[in-house]
Amino acid sequence: MADYRKSSPHCHSTLCDGKNTLQEMASAACAQGLETLGFTGHSHTPCDLEYCMTPSRTGLYQATITKLKTEYRGKVDILCGLEWDQFSDENPAAYDYWIGSVHYLRGPKTGKYYEIDWRPQDLKDCIDHDFGGDGLAMAQAYFRSVAEVAAKKPDILGHFDLIKKLNCTGAYFDENSPRYKAAAEAALAIANENECLLEINTGGVYRGFRNDFYPSFWILEAWQKLGGKVIITADAHTTDSLTFGYEDAAQLAKSAGFSEVQVLTAEGFVPCAI
Ligand SMILES: [Zn+2]
Ligand SMILES: [Zn+2]
Repeated sequence: MADYRKSSPHCHSTLCDGKNTLQEMASAACAQGLETLGFTGHSHTPCDLEYCMTPSRTGLYQATITKLKTEYRGKVDILCGLEWDQFSDENPAAYDYWIGSVHYLRGPKTGKYYEIDWRPQDLKDCIDHDFGGDGLAMAQAYFRSVAEVAAKKPDILGHFDLIKKLNCTGAYFDENSPRYKAAAEAALAIANENECLLEINTGGVYRGFRNDFYPSFWILEAWQKLGGKVIITADAHTTDSLTFGYEDAAQLAKSAGFSEVQVLTAEGFVPCAI
């Protein structure tokens, strides 16, 4: 019987923007009693200058994980996944499984790529220079991008409403606006058609950006009504956050009406009662 507390399917390392090496993450997963550790390094993405894996690092990533799979056999099942970005030039089908994510918006006017989850100034520039100062128009474009990724049928759709990351105080747009909600609902419908797993991602809370997980509770409720499935992930960038917030995430899923979550195992995704 799979236990959602013993599987961490969304993990980074120093080969992208994580703080610990692949080896340190594997060793910590073992010490913490995990049964499954799924690495999901950021895919090579030509527009990225900061946190994705370079082609040579991607080779090292795959080779190191192959070794770790052997080293930890019988202790922790290690999987070589990928967090594939919308603008990546990699083929995610070459990995054990993949998360499809949007981290950038391409400005419709300037053609510039904006990292939407890092510098407040980038988000502001994106709104001002490419969306006429209308933050909600940017959020709508973001959810259209999420729908495009969902249509590619990733195993997991990454941090569904990442666009809210820097919007904790509501400075850029109103998350309760009907325009925002309609945009999110439209993306959710495409995710449902393509049978994506939606992650309840605790990473933004661990890193202090938000007080709530991705996705927001109302989105989780809407997803449950559509009959969608969820998986709990920590988007771990450190050894001490491999299962951060899992109990709270499971409670949240329960409150939204779910009776089970999916769990990544060596045999694939399996249901687990919560
Ligand atoms: Zn991501
Ligand atoms: Zn991630």
